[in-house]
Amino acid sequence: MFDTLSDRLTAALQTLSRKGRLSDADIDATAREIRIALLEADVALPVVKEFIARIKDRAKGAEVSQALNPAQQVIKIVNEELVGILGGETRRLNLAKNPPSVIMLAGLQGAGKTTLAGKLAMWLKKQGHAPMLVACDLQRPNAVTQLQVVGERAGVVTFAPEPGNGVGDPVDVARRAIEEAKHAQHDIVVVDTAGRLGVDEELMKQAADIRDAVQPDEILFVVDAMIGQDAVTTAQAFRDGVGFTGVVLTKLDGDARGGAALSVREVTGQPILFASNGEKLEDFDTFHPDRMASRILG
Ligand code: GDP
Repeated sequence: MFDTLSDRLTAALQTLSRKGRLSDADIDATAREIRIALLEADVALPVVKEFIARIKDRAKGAEVSQALNPAQQVIKIVNEELVGILGGETRRLNLAKNPPSVIMLAGLQGAGKTTLAGKLAMWLKKQGHAPMLVACDLQRPNAVTQLQVVGERAGVVTFAPEPGNGVGDPVDVARRAIEEAKHAQHDIVVVDTAGRLGVDEELMKQAADIRDAVQPDEILFVVDAMIGQDAVTTAQAFRDGVGFTGVVLTKLDGDARGGAALSVREVTGQPILFASNGEKLEDFDTFHPDRMASRILG
């Protein structure tokens, strides 16, 4: 996904390595190149501005180093700042002291929530947990069946309203699911919620009602990295409407520019916990800011 960005940044930094000493003008020129590369990759403007200002500041103020030549020093600064906008440290999942822990998924329709529920369940199972999926997306006719299918593939139980009982109330389903989890000794409950094509108030209220009913330990905002700048506006809408404690980036295997997804952490202040990079249940892992930064810097 970040190939073009990666090429552009590498090229911008390589120009420096041909120089012995760096003048302020050299640093300004490189900062300009980096700025263009980030903007073309769709990184949000306020994030780019802040990033460039920090790079210039640090690069110009850098002490002469015995170990690193000036170009290496700038590369190190860019790397550290990139790790910073991606969240710094790897953030682990927050789990409850008294199980079951509740993880609620929120996001637009098509973001990859249902697929993620299966991925997360399988990943949790591998870590020795006994997760249960809960179908609270009762809007889309196929959503419950789709969750049951991914649940089966992941080898976990899916709690869903009985067929034939009408549309059902997602808040009631969520509540009953928690009781069932306690009873059947599932230590983690993953709640899938309804998504709409666009942000809408009814969706936000429903998600907020489910949140209030089940008091999640984590609310994960699931965002498709391919949707460009909309990733940032959608994230802000979910932050204000439901609130979330972490972000999951999906479709990182796509060929869109993806920079907007890189802005979500900085814009919302919430960490990226996981990344999805394919349709298979295995295409999923913990998000490591340092590894992602190294990948982007080539
Ligand atoms: P939901 O509406 O948020 O529940 O989204 P779904 O889980 O139904 O996913 C929507 C589509 O995106 C499906 O076709 C998934 O197979 C696909 N999808 C989900 N995650 C990924 C991913 O990481 N990479 C790719 N390429 N496709 C994905």
